[in-house]
Amino acid sequence: MIEEVIAFRDERNWKQFHNPKDLALSLSLEASELLENFQWKTSEQAIKENMDNLKDELADVVIYALLLSDALDINMETAIKEKIRKNRSKYPVEKSFGISKKYTDL
Ligand SMILES: [Mg+2]
Repeated sequence: MIEEVIAFRDERNWKQFHNPKDLALSLSLEASELLENFQWKTSEQAIKENMDNLKDELADVVIYALLLSDALDINMETAIKEKIRKNRSKYPVEKSFGISKKYTDL
């Protein structure tokens, strides 16, 4: 996945524009575009009316996340596994099963 994203970027000589700050900013903007699909709607309405755009905006978010991981030299597979390990420790099953509270309130 990341190889295809990087190839798309490099075919266009865009790496020069992809500093970490602007990639993080772009990721947040794309997340806002994703949210816009839900504004003034229930989840069900948004999915029914905007599924194609939801798919596109979610893809934009992931693409910018991958580009940012490349710019910061972060291996996302390792980073996600490590974060899940931290989350397991923050949210032990016996304390958090079926409970939506933040770990500080468990
Ligand atoms: Mg977009």
